[in-house]
Amino acid sequence: MRYSQMFIPTLKESPADAEVVSHKLMVRAGMIRQLASGIYTILPLGLRVLRKIERIIREEMDGIGGQEVFMPSIQPSELWVESGRWNFYGKELLRIKDRHDREFCYGPTHEEVVTDIVRREVKSYRHLPLTLYQIQTKFRDEVRPRFGIMRGREFMMKDAYSFHADVESARETYGQMAQAYSNIFKRCGLTFVKVQADSGTIGGSFSHEFAVLADSGEDRVGFCDRCDYASNLEMAEARPPEGEDSQPEEALREVATPGKKSVAEVGEFLSQPAARIVKTLLFDTDRGLVAGLVRGDRELNPIKLKNLIGCEWAHPASEADIAKNDCPPVGYVGPVGLNLKVFADHEVMQLKSFVAGANKPDAHFAGVSPGRDFKVEKSGDLRDVRAGDPCPRCAGTYQVRRGIEVGHIFILGTKYSRAMKANYLDPNGSEKPMEMGCYGIGVGRTAAAAIEQNHDEKGIVWPVPIAPFQVAVIPVNYSNEKVREASDALYRALWDAGVEALLDDRSDRLGVKLNDADLLGAPLQIILGPKNLDDGKVEFKVRKTNVSEVQPLAGAAEKVVALLKTL
Ligand code: ATP
Ligand code: MG
Repeated sequence: MRYSQMFIPTLKESPADAEVVSHKLMVRAGMIRQLASGIYTILPLGLRVLRKIERIIREEMDGIGGQEVFMPSIQPSELWVESGRWNFYGKELLRIKDRHDREFCYGPTHEEVVTDIVRREVKSYRHLPLTLYQIQTKFRDEVRPRFGIMRGREFMMKDAYSFHADVESARETYGQMAQAYSNIFKRCGLTFVKVQADSGTIGGSFSHEFAVLADSGEDRVGFCDRCDYASNLEMAEARPPEGEDSQPEEALREVATPGKKSVAEVGEFLSQPAARIVKTLLFDTDRGLVAGLVRGDRELNPIKLKNLIGCEWAHPASEADIAKNDCPPVGYVGPVGLNLKVFADHEVMQLKSFVAGANKPDAHFAGVSPGRDFKVEKSGDLRDVRAGDPCPRCAGTYQVRRGIEVGHIFILGTKYSRAMKANYLDPNGSEKPMEMGCYGIGVGRTAAAAIEQNHDEKGIVWPVPIAPFQVAVIPVNYSNEKVREASDALYRALWDAGVEALLDDRSDRLGVKLNDADLLGAPLQIILGPKNLDDGKVEFKVRKTNVSEVQPLAGAAEKVVALLKTL
C-alpha cells in the first residue's frame, strides 16, 4: 500500500476523553473514530489489525472442529423470554420494536439464537458434539463505555457454542477450547494468564478467563508466586484457616457501645483487634435478604456469597431493603437473634468469643461463638484475598496484578437446553437435554490489549502477527529518482515475498515520516536515502529496540523475511 493513497488520518493530540494509552494511540494512529459513546468506526489501518486477529481465531477454531456460522444481530424477544433472560438481563440489553410493535433486542450474546437453531435441526446423539462459532457485532448498553473499543457498546466478538450428549464430551471440548485460546493469544503476541473465573450457579472450575496483564486493566488477577494457580480476584480462593482459636469460650454478654458503629470505633472502644470483631453485612438476593459474616479486618466478596448460597445474584442491601425488612440499625447488626439466614466465612467459624452487633442501637455482644449463639445456614470462603495472602494450593504467596479480560470460556450445563427444550435422543431412544458450552473473545479488545502491552512514548510497537503492516518503507526523498526507483523496487519485492509493506511515498519531510512510522508501529522500518544508496545500502530500523543497521540493498527483501521471524 502507498501511504499517499491510504486513508490514515493521524493526529498529533489524543482525544480529551481518552484515559488509556491504547485508546489514545488508536485514535492518533487513525485506526478508529468515535461515532457516538462506545460506538466506533474502524478505519482501514484498524481493520487490518482486527482482520488479522480474526484470521488467527478462525484458524484455531477450525483446528478444533468449530464451524463458522453468521447469526443475525437482531433477535426476537420470544427466545429471550423462553430462556428467562428477557427480564433478567437488565439495561445492558438494547430492546427495540419493529413497525408491528413486536419486541426485539440487539444481541449482546447469542445463546438463545444458537440454541434455537440446534434444537430445530439436531435430534440425535449421532450428530453431537457440535461446535458453531461466529465473528460478529454485539451490542451491550454498557453503563460506562470507555477506553475506546476496549469497552465499547457496539463491538466485535468471536462467540462459539458447543452442544454435547454428555458432560464428559462438554469437558473435552472445553479443554480443547482452552488450548485454542492459549494458542490464539500467544499467536497475537500477548502476555496473558488463564485464570479461574466465576462460573456462577453451575459451580466447579468450569469457567476461565484469559487476562492480558496490564496496569490499565479493569480486572484484578490474583496469582501465586510459586505455582500456576491464578484466579480473577473476585473468585480467588482464600486458604481456610488452620487449627483452633486460642481464645477460651466465654459467656455471651451484651456491652454498651454508644455511638460506636464501625469496626474501628468498636475495636478501639472495647480494646479488641479488628480480627476479633465480626462484620454482619446484609445482602439482597433472588432468595430474599440474607446476612453474610466476615472478620472485621476482611472484605466480604458478593460473588463468593452468591456462589455459597447457590443463588443467581446478591447485591449489598439498600436502605430501602433494610427498612422494608425491619432490620436492626446499621452498625449494630449481628448474627445473634437475627431473623435472617446467616452465611459465614470459614474464618468466622474458627473464632470463639468474638464481638458482633446486638441488633439494637448502641449495643454489641461480646463472647459470641458460632453454632452456640446463632445458627449458620452455610459456611465457606466469603472473603476477598489480598496480595501477600497464602496461596490456596501451595506454600506460595498471592500476588495481585491488573488484567484485561480478552477471552472467557464457560461450561453452561443444561441451563439453556432445559429452558428452551434443546433435547436429543440417546442410543436408547430416550430424550435428554444437551450439555452446552460457550466461549467468547473480544476482537477489538484483543487489539487494544496488544497496544497496552506493546507501545512506547512514540507510539505503537505491533507484534508481527497482528501488525497492520510488517514493514514501513521510508524513502528519505521520494522525488529523487534514484531513491524512488529503489524504494518502488524494494516495496514490490517485499509484497512478492509475502511481506505487507507500507510505502511512505508522501512528499513530507523525513522527520514527519519517521514520526508517523513510529506512531503506526510497523515492527520494521527500512529507510532509503541517496547517500546509502550510492553505496548500494539501506537502513534497517527495528521499531522495538530502535536499533539501526545499514544493510545491502541487494537481497534486502529476503533479509526482511528472515528478520521478521525473529521479532
Ligand atoms: P466484562 O466483564 O469486561 O464486561 P464480560 O464478562 O461481560 O466482560 P463476556 O460476556 O464473557 O464478557 O464476553 C466475551 C468477551 O467479549 C470478553 O472476554 C471481552 O473480550 C469481550 N467484551 C465483552 N464486553 C465488551 C465490550 N463492552 N467491549 C469490547 N469487548 C467486550
Ligand atoms: Mg460485561
